[in-house]
Amino acid sequence: MQDCIFCKIVRGELPSFKVFEDEHVLAFMDIEPVAVGHVLVIPKEHAMNLYDASEESIAQAFSAAHRIGPRVANAVGAEGFHITMNNGEAAWQTVFHPHIHILPRYPGDNHDPWKKHQRSREELARDAKKIQTLLG
Ligand code: AMP
Ligand code: ZN
Repeated sequence: MQDCIFCKIVRGELPSFKVFEDEHVLAFMDIEPVAVGHVLVIPKEHAMNLYDASEESIAQAFSAAHRIGPRVANAVGAEGFHITMNNGEAAWQTVFHPHIHILPRYPGDNHDPWKKHQRSREELARDAKKIQTLLG
């Protein structure tokens, strides 16, 4: 899809802090994280969300999330993580390319879902490197 920002990231036309990539899936740091270590896992195949995505592309993305989630949490020193997926505007979806959120949780973090957490580009790059190392 020409104008989709996540397709642009897949094609390398927009920058991202990648943590994992294979033939079907890409994982990168959320640019406006709601927690330290907030990672997005996307199928490379374009669709809007679970309403129209192929079962195969979603299975590949969730399979990657299964592998990546615990490693992300370990890399950033979290003690658990949420997996969430917003499907449709009414469900807070803002980017219309399927994506799975990995949201690390820390003891006593008083997590407020979707409240943005300030993280500089340098910190995001460091987080990505730590996670990449564990995925290697
Ligand atoms: P959602 O509200 O579920 O559609 O989530 C979209 C997510 O994409 C938000 O958490 C944004 O911070 C994130 N996002 C938007 N643009 C980018 C980008 N260029 N690189 C990384 N993450 C992004
Ligand atoms: Zn797309």
